[in-house]
Amino acid sequence: MLALAPLSHLEKLAAATQPALSLAPWSPGTLDIHHISTGRGSCAFLMCPDGTTLMIDAGSILSHIEPYRDKFLIDPRPNESLRPGQWIARYVQHCLAEANRNEIDYFLLTHFHEDHMGEIAPGNFTLSPKSRFGNYQLGGVTDVAELIPIKTIIDRNYPSYDYPLPHNSPQDKNYQEFGRSFIQRGGQIERIIPGSTSQITLTQEQAKFPSFSIRNLAANGEVWTGVGEETRHYFPRLDSLNAKDYPTENKCSLAIRLSYGKFDYFSAGDMDHEIRYGHLPWGDIESVVAKASGPVEVAVADHHGWVDACGPEWVQALRAQVYVINAWDSAHPTMTSLNNMLSKELYPGPRMVFSTAMKPESVIALRRIAEITSQNGHVIFRVAPSGDSFEVFVKDSGTENGKVVSRFGPFLCN
Ligand SMILES: [Zn+2]
Repeated sequence: MLALAPLSHLEKLAAATQPALSLAPWSPGTLDIHHISTGRGSCAFLMCPDGTTLMIDAGSILSHIEPYRDKFLIDPRPNESLRPGQWIARYVQHCLAEANRNEIDYFLLTHFHEDHMGEIAPGNFTLSPKSRFGNYQLGGVTDVAELIPIKTIIDRNYPSYDYPLPHNSPQDKNYQEFGRSFIQRGGQIERIIPGSTSQITLTQEQAKFPSFSIRNLAANGEVWTGVGEETRHYFPRLDSLNAKDYPTENKCSLAIRLSYGKFDYFSAGDMDHEIRYGHLPWGDIESVVAKASGPVEVAVADHHGWVDACGPEWVQALRAQVYVINAWDSAHPTMTSLNNMLSKELYPGPRMVFSTAMKPESVIALRRIAEITSQNGHVIFRVAPSGDSFEVFVKDSGTENGKVVSRFGPFLCN
């Protein structure tokens, strides 16, 4: 038997003061929000206090593979041996097993872009195999649904898929064919109802957690007013616009605010504030929606912190303690967006920024990178059973079931 070398005084001290870097399994009453780092798009998985499960987006872009390769992209995580949707499903299966669940109650699709719903290579069954359930290909949400049962899907435009124009890309058609098969197999798809707090509710033991709610803030430019469940249509009527000025897919994203006790979480897909030099006076949808939300503890950076998102008014309205960026590109985030999130002129007090991934070149380009708390890894928010405080964990995403590499908090909710 090998004898262990005695610890030096400093090592003993470090061992004694270092908090345990592990994440205990989820337990009832706790809210866990996992931002899963694949480097290929957005995905959050939520284990709610009663065990209700919710996924927001399951992005999967193909652009790391020829002929799609794109030099601006971050390398896939943990590696290319599986598709991002498969990695997501395996990560989530682990969480489900810990909570004695085996299905996703709600899948929320913020908008119909590849880095949120999944990209497929049409007709290429090596890159995007066929489903065993229906006549569609696997990538993103369809990969997740192949491995984990989903009960209800909520998107922004079911069942017509025609706003502002018919959705006809290969990804759109693949998703719609998946939807038909999903319904035939007993699944449910709904269009999000802006303003509502009764569309997404706890499914297991709702009565036990009265302070938990999910407010649908917006979709397709229809925004909650803050009064009852009233909404206001913020985009102009289409017949008053030239087709080239129609609201973009990003602007049409759906948005929610989740509340649990004093804890609030904001997620709004790829909304932006682009007004095309004043040409689209209604273009700043992200600020309108952030004002409808009000301050939160955690905000997901709109549009991955791209140059057209996370503007000053958005930051000022949300006043978040933590921003999390679902990154897959060298411009996630851009310097301007990061400056806004870090600006103490917009609101005083401490805040932290976490990114799920970072391209090595961006570390040079982003001068304030040292002010980002974590550049890489799954970002997990654990909200205490009271909803009074939360902690942040970062898990290594370079390997499957990677270790917890850092832990922050607990932080008091405002
Ligand atoms: Zn996106």
